[in-house]
Amino acid sequence: MKIILMGPPGVGKGTQGDRLSKRLEINKISTGDLFRYHRNQSTELGILASTYMDKGEYVPDHVTIGMVIESIELTENSKGFILDGFPRTIAQATALDNEIGDTGGIDLVIHMVVEREELIKRLSGRQICQSCQALFHSDSARSKIYGKCDLCGGVLYQREDDRPEVVEKRLGVYSKETEPLVEYYKILGKLTEINADGTPDAVE
Ligand code: ADP
Ligand code: ZN
Repeated sequence: MKIILMGPPGVGKGTQGDRLSKRLEINKISTGDLFRYHRNQSTELGILASTYMDKGEYVPDHVTIGMVIESIELTENSKGFILDGFPRTIAQATALDNEIGDTGGIDLVIHMVVEREELIKRLSGRQICQSCQALFHSDSARSKIYGKCDLCGGVLYQREDDRPEVVEKRLGVYSKETEPLVEYYKILGKLTEINADGTPDAVE
């Protein structure tokens, strides 16, 4: 099973990707998580990526494609994978087709849809645990103790790119670069649209 989770920043790809990955027992490959991992490790890739991420811009295609293809090759003997945050450009989609075309290609593209106002609310209030990456929200999912993780007591922080100016930028880049992929996968007959405007349980 090879699945793509598509949708704008804040739509809940990460959360639903984790759930789906447990349910189907297949790996999730998240480009955002991979880039953040590299940034934390201060690898060459991470240092390069963070200059784009902090501004809300996409990391250049050749860098992103190389990283994802490598991860896909590592899952070769498993039952499949879920892609969260990839592809986001036509060039990335084409590269993916070339890579996995001979093993049947993508089975399903899940397009998650939520209104713009709601996305902005979700992103601007989002708080993440520095130690265990658990997600909280300053309105809808507050931690019991302000600034501390309920699960592990770690410090909560706001992602650099969840600041309001950067959120606007990310939504703009998404419309321009990634929205066209909806049509691309629709024509291929692989697209399923779901309304992601509910609690994580409801969406699942
Ligand atoms: P979101 O989906 O909320 O924007 P992610 O955590 O998926 O956030 O991605 C964070 C950042 O990582 C993006 O803003 C971008 O800079 C970079 N990134 C992630 N996936 C890609 C991709 N497929 N192509 C280019 N850049 C990417
Ligand atoms: Zn934690």
